[in-house]
Amino acid sequence: MNSKLSFRIDPMTKTLPKIDTVLKLRQQVSAWRAQGYTIALVPTMGGLHEGHLSLVDLARQHCDRVIVSIFVNPTQFAPDEDFSTYPRDSKTDSELLHQRGADLIYQPLSSEMYAENETTRITVGKIAQGLCGTSRPHFFEGVATVVCKLLCQASPDVTVFGEKDYQQLLVIQTMVRDLSIPTKIIGGKLIREADGLAMSSRNVYLTKPQRTKAPLLYKALQQVVDIVEKGHSVTQSIKAAKSQLTNQGFVVDYLELRDADTLELVDKDTKPDARLRIFAAASLGKTRLIDNLAVSNLER
Ligand code: AMP
Repeated sequence: MNSKLSFRIDPMTKTLPKIDTVLKLRQQVSAWRAQGYTIALVPTMGGLHEGHLSLVDLARQHCDRVIVSIFVNPTQFAPDEDFSTYPRDSKTDSELLHQRGADLIYQPLSSEMYAENETTRITVGKIAQGLCGTSRPHFFEGVATVVCKLLCQASPDVTVFGEKDYQQLLVIQTMVRDLSIPTKIIGGKLIREADGLAMSSRNVYLTKPQRTKAPLLYKALQQVVDIVEKGHSVTQSIKAAKSQLTNQGFVVDYLELRDADTLELVDKDTKPDARLRIFAAASLGKTRLIDNLAVSNLER
């Protein structure tokens, strides 16, 4: 193997080797492949927390080498969203990934991801509609496009996504299937703070009082799941949970029970053995929180 392509962790700096071009990434991936290593990719936008790091652990269980990409993708933000203020802290991200045993950070320059005159976009269809696809119509096209590019660039055997962004996971699985992209998509479970709040890079935006209220979103989902699992009315319990959240200062975008595989709304046509999941998005001030929870034993 060409020694120039062999990256080593520097124990003094406690940071990881970082690559910022497609060419260098492909050279490293080829060098690893020549050594017989399998490769996993964990795509992120940085601002890393335990949720992301759990995906590194999962990736490590499946492959010999773990690449974590960090790219705040402009095409998945609407003009009035938080692209410019999104948490960016390369040094901390690098230290966390070093501690967690990732092998390489791929932090591409914007110009590597989007040429000035680029025009191509991936639209995935039905699975990207509803839920976040309704309130953020630009979002999944941007996500699918950037993930498709990352997969073409890194050609990983395995790519890991979190169930925190459950609809995103299904959108990517659908895209990979439909475009015959040779990677296996694996979902990692949603990681929460001790008080139940789903971990998110955006949680740092919350003021102290908002942070205290934020776990109520998870509590509302738990409450609906409890009631629904006991066989009581889905509509009533969702209505009650929404108004409780509204009373606490949340602006609820959606709180819906859906088929966990198709994301269809649950109704009389839903198969009795369908796996179900409850999904919510709500804002506290300017911060949009999303969460989801599996439902079991629904009596219908
Ligand atoms: P992001 O940096 O927010 O784009 O997220 C990168 C990846 O980390 C996505 O696959 C997310 O679903 C995943 N992720 C973010 N937060 C969590 C969490 N709390 N638990 C598990 N995975 C997460």
